[in-house]
Amino acid sequence: MTAGPLYLDSHATTPVDPRVLEAMLPYFSESFGNAASKNHSYGNDAHSAVEHARDQLAKAINARDSEIIFTSGATESINLAIKGLAHSAADHKKHLITVATEHKAVLDCHEFLESQGFTVTYLPVDSDGMLDLNLLRNSINDETLLVSVMHGNNEIGVIQDIRSIGEICDDTNVHFFTDATQTLGKLPIDVQKDNIHMLAASAHKIYGPKGVGMLYLRRSNPRVKPSPVQHGGGHERGYRSGTLNVPGIVGFGKAIEIARKESKKNNEQLGKLRNILQDRLLKEIPGAKVNGHLEHRLSHNLNIVLPGVSAEALMIRLKDSVACSSGSACTTAAVLPSHVLSALGLPKEEIDASLRFGLCRGQKEEELTRVATGVIQQHSGLTLLS
Ligand SMILES: *Cc1c(COP(=O)(O)O)cnc(C)c1O
Repeated sequence: MTAGPLYLDSHATTPVDPRVLEAMLPYFSESFGNAASKNHSYGNDAHSAVEHARDQLAKAINARDSEIIFTSGATESINLAIKGLAHSAADHKKHLITVATEHKAVLDCHEFLESQGFTVTYLPVDSDGMLDLNLLRNSINDETLLVSVMHGNNEIGVIQDIRSIGEICDDTNVHFFTDATQTLGKLPIDVQKDNIHMLAASAHKIYGPKGVGMLYLRRSNPRVKPSPVQHGGGHERGYRSGTLNVPGIVGFGKAIEIARKESKKNNEQLGKLRNILQDRLLKEIPGAKVNGHLEHRLSHNLNIVLPGVSAEALMIRLKDSVACSSGSACTTAAVLPSHVLSALGLPKEEIDASLRFGLCRGQKEEELTRVATGVIQQHSGLTLLS
């Protein structure tokens, strides 16, 4: 690798693990078959590889193989889950509940459904980013179809208590969808014990390839049947037509296998390194404070206010040494203050002064120490200017 900036933006995407790439390669060339063409060995090989990956992913969340639908990514899985369920609802329930800090894909699906006559409750979070479970319980009514709450947040790393949320949904007979894109392969997930009815995840957040995702759809107690968003050849039990991305799916399977095997070690190691960075910034930058709950948080996440500067200006100064992201998410071309940090109640100047770091596996203590030193130096340089 060339000595570029240290990559600390793993909530946006991760590099493909070399072991994942190696597993994928044959499915671009000699085993290039269409997994739906089961009348010859090319197709059969591709089909077997897809089914193996399906099994690897199902095992990771204690689901059945037939409950895993492959998609192009978490965004597509989220659309299929939320819009698909809303449009299929035989019981015509028209109320949905979600949370202010969800990923844009989840929020935008809800806004779209509002335009179609659904009502949506957007629950607030406390200043640490945690959802109040009593508030959730009290927001559910006879008209409520679905509760959507993410597992781990992609900006502040906050982990919601999905087991308790699942219990509330089970008690009140509403469906529960969780966006587990940031937590699959990192934290334990058990769709049975957690009472999850639908779950979305993506390969490229777990050192797999971009453009591959999955949706878990529960087949019993209860059976969940969203309407397909994409129609065609009836692939994936009719839920997602279109020729499967075989190399990508194989890579997703390999990525989850590695993630599961190594998650304990990685969580410990990354937590240690994150704390080195966090502790130095807190100690040496006056008024610095962490965004999000200090314990219920992904171990590789740090979202931090560095007062007195614009995070954008700081990132420009740091661009040769660290690749991270700011509190103002460029979702499109426009730079908007993060809706997640706004939901925590941060004033605009603190949002503008927030940086997000997402560590990657295999990074080293000296690399994080160097980043900490660089951030502290550039921060003090900028405050002197102003
Ligand atoms: C990245 C991400 C998504 C979108 O995933 P894609 O596979 O890129 O579509 C959705 N939710 C969360 C929490 C994410 O981090």
